[in-house]
Amino acid sequence: MATKPPTKHHTFIIEHLDPELEAWQALEYKCIYRECHATNCKFILSGLADADAVRQHLDLPSESLQQQSVESIYATSEARAKVCLLDPKAEKDISPEDGDLFDAFLFGGILGDDPPRGTAILVVTYEDRTSELRSKGFPGRRLGPEQMTTDTAARVTRIVVQERKRLEEISFIDRPDIELPAATNADGSKVPSESVSMPFKYVKGADGKPIMPEGMLQLLVDDMDKGIEDLL
Ligand code: SAM
Repeated sequence: MATKPPTKHHTFIIEHLDPELEAWQALEYKCIYRECHATNCKFILSGLADADAVRQHLDLPSESLQQQSVESIYATSEARAKVCLLDPKAEKDISPEDGDLFDAFLFGGILGDDPPRGTAILVVTYEDRTSELRSKGFPGRRLGPEQMTTDTAARVTRIVVQERKRLEEISFIDRPDIELPAATNADGSKVPSESVSMPFKYVKGADGKPIMPEGMLQLLVDDMDKGIEDLL
């Protein structure tokens, strides 16, 4: 029985590409950090306009939070050749062998680009924001055609390159309707629970539900109370 080849302790880099740090991004980044830490992978959040301000928000190790952009951290073409950009428009899908080819995996810290359905949490952005990284000369790999959240993209990448599973061996849930926990009005009366349709592909957890960052469901409930104008 062939033993699984040893895997490297890869580095996972998220280049923060939005002007602000939104509450849902903080949840995603903390989730990615925790899963990297649990598998002895290094986590870097780069491109932070004000790393000190973010340090207040995010209880993450200070060395993980970099003001530098990813292209200045990997300044030469030789260094960038070992960093794989996860890119929805890459020609080739990721495979376990990429775990030997690359030392680091790079993701865009970006909002999705599907119109929000049932929730105001996703503000519509139609442009292909990952292109901001594509032009920097990092070799790209795709995670299949469907859009994933940044934390899901990092999770799937780690399963492929660390656990050596092929994409087709992973159980996914595509565009799930998420049943939100019933909210409570100020007078203590229950608001009927609602569901929200999330335009992303998720890894299916052991409980059969989509794996989402801790606290995300509650954030969805809180934001359902807001009008979209509160979030723009
Ligand atoms: N359409 C948006 C864009 O391209 O800017 C999607 C951004 S996605 C919410 C955040 C990040 O997750 C992307 O920048 C990319 O690194 C990664 N990602 C999401 N879905 C992916 C896919 N199918 N293939 C490769 N990477 C993906």
